[in-house]
Amino acid sequence: MAVSPASSSTEQSVLVVGGGIAGLLSARMLARKGFKVTVVEGRAHLGGAVGSHQLAGMVLDAGAESFATRSTVVSDLLQELGLKDKIVLPNSLGSWLYLPTGAKPSPSTGLMGIPGSFDDPALKATLSASGIARARMDKFLPASVGAKAKTLGELVRARMGQQVLDNLVAPVVSGVHSVHPDKLDVDVVTPGLKDAMLRLGSLAAAAGSIRKAAPAGSAVAGIEGGMNQLSEALVQDLQRMHVRIMTGFNVIAVDRDPVTGEWTLIQRRSDVGARPIAISAPNLVMATDGPTAVRILGSHLPAHAVPSIKAGPEIALVSLVVDKPELDRAPRGTGLLISDQVTNVRAKALTHASAKWQWVADKLGEGRHVVRLSYGRSSDANSPLSEVALHDDQLITLALHDASKLLGTNISPKQLVDADVVRWQGAMPAPKAGHKEKIVAFRQSLDQLEGVCAVGAWLSGTGLVAVTKDTHAVIEAYADELLNHH
Ligand SMILES: Cc1cc2nc3c(=O)[nH]c(=O)nc-3n(C[C@H](O)[C@H](O)[C@H](O)COP(=O)(O)OP(=O)(O)OC[C@H]3O[C@@H](n4cnc5c(N)ncnc54)[C@H](O)[C@@H]3O)c2cc1C
Repeated sequence: MAVSPASSSTEQSVLVVGGGIAGLLSARMLARKGFKVTVVEGRAHLGGAVGSHQLAGMVLDAGAESFATRSTVVSDLLQELGLKDKIVLPNSLGSWLYLPTGAKPSPSTGLMGIPGSFDDPALKATLSASGIARARMDKFLPASVGAKAKTLGELVRARMGQQVLDNLVAPVVSGVHSVHPDKLDVDVVTPGLKDAMLRLGSLAAAAGSIRKAAPAGSAVAGIEGGMNQLSEALVQDLQRMHVRIMTGFNVIAVDRDPVTGEWTLIQRRSDVGARPIAISAPNLVMATDGPTAVRILGSHLPAHAVPSIKAGPEIALVSLVVDKPELDRAPRGTGLLISDQVTNVRAKALTHASAKWQWVADKLGEGRHVVRLSYGRSSDANSPLSEVALHDDQLITLALHDASKLLGTNISPKQLVDADVVRWQGAMPAPKAGHKEKIVAFRQSLDQLEGVCAVGAWLSGTGLVAVTKDTHAVIEAYADELLNHH
């Protein structure tokens, strides 16, 4: 392919492919260490899954809207970026579950819906007497039961039975990961859980101990004005450090000069007839989704070291702004997670954003509300019956119907002030059983390539805490190696 060089490179320059949080954070760390950094992002906007959209004149989060407080990595980062004072906690209204038996307040659970104890009276509303009796057996079963489980679903079913899985764990896990716990690698979605279970002899004790180890109080926090401000602050910091940022640069391939070892990014150009533009540097950080990283780097690795990584499910988020004073009393707390056994509602989760975040309520005023419904369970993502295949206006109609059922009050199209549909393709990786071994092997094989590393949620696990922690560790080691090498 004929290419026209667009940049000169220095020894210490690094190309970062992907401008999501992992890419922006990598660029920031490297720039602070004195590297000359260029970030290339395929889309027009930076931040990836941490982005914004406009609804009824307000800027709201289009993707991630909170971060877990189990670790301080995100709040430390926010402090460095001058956003510490804007950290807010969600209103403590609690959340609900929507089960085939109707809407029920969520019992307080240990981890990912797994009960940490069976004392919570709310459990009685979500599990039958026999379901609770089966779950309690967890305490008496030998620790070896479930020890070989590869998926979170297998582990929960073996220790606590099907009802705990269906009514408590699956709604939470599907809400967070869009994938049923039967399909998720237990060591990736709940790191440390199986080891704690083997040590403590019960899954409830393990879930409870992991929960206790986290700081007291709310499990998540947000930013006044939205998590999208994290992306914006990172971009501003990069601009201050003169990091070169190129948006609309969709990398289709990476070449490597066999003599100099330089990496060259080749871009897909949308304008017909335009020559592809190439950009080169000796060092490369891949911060895209998994399938893209594997496709682009795969040709530089031995065939056996190229893992097969499937794209995560397509998700559609439907945000509705409604004039509905009945919602002022937050009838379902901060929102609901929906069991996949339910047949009268198609959404998998609903967030009542104006009940959850005070800053949203203050901006809207009394009587006006924002609810956000998510669609697209992985089990049906490729089926023609999947809701994500619907047009935006059809999805909005469906969301109005679902929101009415879930919130227990009829919301008519006349009460709809504004609506928006945001679609995420593969933005939420689904770590299937065996994923952990695959990524360890992939990273080991990358070590054989000079000047390259990979970061991102497909390697670290979904969520801002996981991505931030992993990116810090990987880029720290990568930078050290580059500095010592040169
Ligand atoms: C809808 C949604 C809601 C979420 N909510 C939360 C939440 O509340 N709390 C939480 O902690 N986590 C949440 N998450 C998860 C969290 O947002 C992600 O784990 C994290 O943002 C992933 O960051 P990343 O940089 O790895 O990937 P991404 O954000 O996906 O960024 C990857 C970037 O690479 C770019 N790219 C891909 N291919 C190419 C190419 N060929 N050339 C150039 N660029 C390319 C993409 O355009 C994208 O910008 C949510 C995720 C989604 C999708």
